[in-house]
Amino acid sequence: MSKVKISGGGRCNVLHDPDDFDIKASYPRGSKELVSPLSGKKFSPEKQKKWWEDHGLSMHVEEDGRMFPVSNKSSSVIDVLLENSRRQGVKFELKKSVETISFEKENEEDGNFKLNFSDGTFQLADKVVLATGSSDSGYRIAKDFNHTIVKPVPSLFTFTLGREVEEGGVFADLAGISVEDAAIKVSIENPDGGKKKKWLEERGPLLITHKGLSGPGVLRLSAFGELRRGIGIQQKVNCGDHSSLTAVLHRTN
Ligand SMILES: Cc1cc2nc3c(=O)[nH]c(=O)nc-3n(C[C@H](O)[C@H](O)[C@H](O)COP(=O)(O)OP(=O)(O)OC[C@H]3O[C@@H](n4cnc5c(N)ncnc54)[C@H](O)[C@@H]3O)c2cc1C
Repeated sequence: MSKVKISGGGRCNVLHDPDDFDIKASYPRGSKELVSPLSGKKFSPEKQKKWWEDHGLSMHVEEDGRMFPVSNKSSSVIDVLLENSRRQGVKFELKKSVETISFEKENEEDGNFKLNFSDGTFQLADKVVLATGSSDSGYRIAKDFNHTIVKPVPSLFTFTLGREVEEGGVFADLAGISVEDAAIKVSIENPDGGKKKKWLEERGPLLITHKGLSGPGVLRLSAFGELRRGIGIQQKVNCGDHSSLTAVLHRTN
């Protein structure tokens, strides 16, 4: 729960108001995979909203549609999750990690997963759900069971600029300035392999930092562009009608 604790700046943005939003259309990658789990019959955003309310989490909707606990504390979300897990009889194994999982089969009909913990103990289970976040161990365990791993790529990162933020560069001396409505364009490698550049564009608030660019539009571009970006991406920022800044985005990884 440590990540939930720091989420949303300590407030945890639980949901986006489903009355106002189509989550699938705004999901940068994997929207196809979201269709089934989020369909009306399963766990749609509407059903999630009701689930939280029925389980004791009061939320408020902000102007932009984001929903937060009324307390504005992520600990309220954690309390609801822990309280309901306890009520359902969930047993927690703390201060240990799952090192390996093996499949123990005593006869042809059935078998058990054996979770081997770091302290030498183990737990048998009929079914296993891997929910290890971005930890390597989850990928390792999935590979042990012959699952194919799609190469993970980062998302929601700020853009680091090189010489443009150094002295004499177009963004030098602008660190700390924010613009309420900027159009940010990033050219990426053509996904069809052609020579013609493809542009991704977002509008939104922009923050110039001492390392590069940040803000909601930049974060969204990072999510949509990461899979297809090339080295040395041309980036154009239009702040209002009169100013236009162009810089080269540098890979940092
Ligand atoms: C700064 C920040 C702000 C965010 N804000 C929001 C927000 O407002 N709203 C929102 O919806 N999302 C937000 N997110 C994203 C959200 O926190 C993550 O999407 C979410 O936590 C992912 O949950 P998870 O269970 O997949 O992974 P995690 O939360 O990473 O949990 C994985 C858990 O598995 C454990 N683990 C790993 N390997 C093993 C092992 N081998 N054995 C045992 N345990 C293991 C880890 O210790 C960890 O506790 C934010 C993320 C960050 C970093």
